[in-house]
Amino acid sequence: MSNKINLIRLFIILFIASISLNADDSRIVYLSQTGIKYHIKTCRTLKKKPIAVTLKEAKRRGYTACKVCRP
Ligand SMILES: [Zn+2]
Repeated sequence: MSNKINLIRLFIILFIASISLNADDSRIVYLSQTGIKYHIKTCRTLKKKPIAVTLKEAKRRGYTACKVCRP
């Protein structure tokens, strides 16, 4: 019984999450360990371990869009 409720709750959370991911500032961008740009995951200039953050967070930290991958 409570498993069913948990499942429904999970679906609601996933549904809300998918909506917020579509919002521009909530999409995930990747920061390089060095530099001041944010990237998409597959950017060729992105080396080592990229840090995944939301676009909002990247902007808040003062990062700007990469000119190569245009995130
Ligand atoms: Zn890039």
